[in-house]
Amino acid sequence: MPAKKNRLSWSNSRNVKKMEQIYLLKKKNGKISINKKLIEEVVTELVGDEALPIVFYLKGKKKISEFIVAEELDLEIHKTRNLLYRLYEHNIVTFLRKKDKIKGWYICYWDFNEKMIPELALKIKQNKINKLKKRLEQEKSNTFYMCKSACARMIFDKAIEYNFKCHECGEIMQEQDNKRTIEFLTERLKELENPEKKK
Ligand SMILES: [Zn+2]
Repeated sequence: MPAKKNRLSWSNSRNVKKMEQIYLLKKKNGKISINKKLIEEVVTELVGDEALPIVFYLKGKKKISEFIVAEELDLEIHKTRNLLYRLYEHNIVTFLRKKDKIKGWYICYWDFNEKMIPELALKIKQNKINKLKKRLEQEKSNTFYMCKSACARMIFDKAIEYNFKCHECGEIMQEQDNKRTIEFLTERLKELENPEKKK
């Protein structure tokens, strides 16, 4: 059977649903409230969920040595450092480097930079909006051809190259009415841009 896995991504329903959850940012006094879920979403999006234990371990603590982090979370020191630096690249953590007086080497002491979370969430949200807009623009300005078994979907120019034959199953591709895709994307975009209005 031809790959069905692509079918979902065309309507993007899974991805979009996920971003909806993330970016219904709750505001308190005009400020985005930081909660566990928001932290999880931002860290997962930017670094990956494997960094979550580190973030939640550092949360509420101050200047924790990377060796302690590694030990407490039962992680390899290299792995721990790697994740910490990746978090640092997004400013999610900060560090202070100090020479250990006894051992003579340098140790980094880490802090969770919690106040960055709302800013990063907004940035991610804006990126998603931009992507969605671009995608919508593509849908609006192109004619799409699709195989009956849904293993291929492409724009007209590409379809010509294939002689309108699906490169997976050989079936002739038909012009696809993408009105619903456009509606779907427009709706999601609206929700993302005005989360408060969604009831
Ligand atoms: Zn096909």
